[in-house]
Amino acid sequence: MKYRSQPYTIAVLIPCLNEEQNITLLHQTLIRELEYYNTVQILFIDDGSTDDSSSMMSRLASANSNTGYIQLSRNFGHQAALKAGLDHARGDCVITMDADMQHDPKYIHELIRVWREEGSDVVYTVRDDSGKRTLKTFFSSVFYRIISGVTSTPVYAGAADFRLLDRRVVDELQKISEHHLFLRGLIPWMGFRQKAIPINVGERAAGESKYSAAKMVRLALAEPP
Ligand code: UDP
Ligand code: MG
Repeated sequence: MKYRSQPYTIAVLIPCLNEEQNITLLHQTLIRELEYYNTVQILFIDDGSTDDSSSMMSRLASANSNTGYIQLSRNFGHQAALKAGLDHARGDCVITMDADMQHDPKYIHELIRVWREEGSDVVYTVRDDSGKRTLKTFFSSVFYRIISGVTSTPVYAGAADFRLLDRRVVDELQKISEHHLFLRGLIPWMGFRQKAIPINVGERAAGESKYSAAKMVRLALAEPP
């Protein structure tokens, strides 16, 4: 269900590393999907891309009053890029998502519905990959089992950085000055009312995964890339 002329504002944050082939497609899709919302900000974070990503962001920002971008001085990693975006996010709720269309913008309606109607402060997505077994899903499930074994904080297997955060949660995250965060662990730990929705995660629209095996290990250790 879509909401016409709603009083609340939404912001969308998209960290990007070399996503020149996906940025325009994602932006067009967001504009179309979000036309009934008061989208005050579509904010790209360029995490040190070496392709044409930043000039594409700059063009989109000049042509669309609600679109902007942050240029990081080098590649700081996905989590640090998200944190930079959160520090500049406006909106009564803030949605974070990947640039490559694996986080389908069609799910944003459900994120907003759960936030508005069920009063959740955090609505996060979990990959519904029943049946799909790849090397990556295997390592991911091992990773979450290990993390869950060593910490009392719930870290949900299959949780993605595609989520909606209420303004109150964003305000708390802005108070944290640490930039090497593991948001998938930190956000569950923060409390608030949280709810998961299952999503299907498809293939990247274009380009290749920016997460090498080494980067995934560094993510697990909450180290910079
Ligand atoms: N990304 C980033 N900095 C990095 C690595 C990735 O900003 O150092 C972005 C990337 O452009 C994408 C998102 O983080 O928007 C998720 O990365 P990717 O799709 O490569 O990860 P995967 O889906 O393969 O786990
Ligand atoms: Mg991806």
